[in-house]
Amino acid sequence: MSELTDIREIKALLDRHGFRFSKSLGQNFLIQPWVPEKIAECSMLDGNTGVLEIGPGIGCLTSKLSEQAGKVVSIELDPSLMPILEETLSGCGNVEIVFGDVLKQDLNKIVAEKMQGFRPVVCANLPYNITSPVISALLKAGCFRQMTLMVQKEVAARICAKAGDDDYSAFSILVQWYADPELMFDVAPDCFLPQPKVTSSVIRLKVPNVRRYHTEDEEFMFRVVRSAFGQRRKTLVNALSSGIRELSKQDIADTVSACGFDERIRGEELSINEYCLLSDELLRRIHLFKH
Ligand code: SAM
Repeated sequence: MSELTDIREIKALLDRHGFRFSKSLGQNFLIQPWVPEKIAECSMLDGNTGVLEIGPGIGCLTSKLSEQAGKVVSIELDPSLMPILEETLSGCGNVEIVFGDVLKQDLNKIVAEKMQGFRPVVCANLPYNITSPVISALLKAGCFRQMTLMVQKEVAARICAKAGDDDYSAFSILVQWYADPELMFDVAPDCFLPQPKVTSSVIRLKVPNVRRYHTEDEEFMFRVVRSAFGQRRKTLVNALSSGIRELSKQDIADTVSACGFDERIRGEELSINEYCLLSDELLRRIHLFKH
């Protein structure tokens, strides 16, 4: 196929295959050639790169990635796209499509078996309904040093937000625990078929080789973070006293003060390092009171 972003060609292709868009699968396909080009450019691909793509759709980003990377593995949930992808990617010998749900895949196994010898990165125009669980799974898999992802603009703002920003959330902390996020560019609704209601943004996540943050118990720290953000606009002490039941409200207030924070501080004001400090001190006191 000559042009996978030409709207008339796309419509003719989809009609020929009797394809129907699924809203629940977040199917908004790119129809502007500059977007996949720019996503590929941001990913800095070369012949040594193995790209994991999530949701190839009709293959418009996939074919661009195929031109620049050594290998592309794309995971697609919708089996009705199978004959379309066979047609559109027939000339892309380095692309392998895995049909299934990305959330049910063993990503490390895919990388080990299908991208052996390549530097694994991720590139995707993500289905919006599963953005957060996919990003968590990609980060927790631990095998990707770089991800270039298209998400809703408001999600991009949450991912990139720093302590004190309006958009700072438990998800900002989760992503930044693993990676450094960068906002690359915005993409307007008229770049897609069908048009979504919201603007999208492309972000790039770079995962450093060494962990920057240290805490005694990562799981407990994320429990503290979720409790702190679970009740926005409440003070940190009030929010934690409903989430961390092992300590009394007074003990939590004493811990917050002992860490050097004002007792009226809100969870949205603490940086990741400050959450590590607070979480370790809460844990120390929980253990102390147990014995
Ligand atoms: N990459 C194409 C593009 O940019 O035009 C399509 C992107 S579209 C926003 C999202 C794609 O993800 C669709 O092809 C959809 O079928 C697929 N998808 C949705 N949920 C999925 C899941 N759980 N696992 C794998 N693919 C999924």
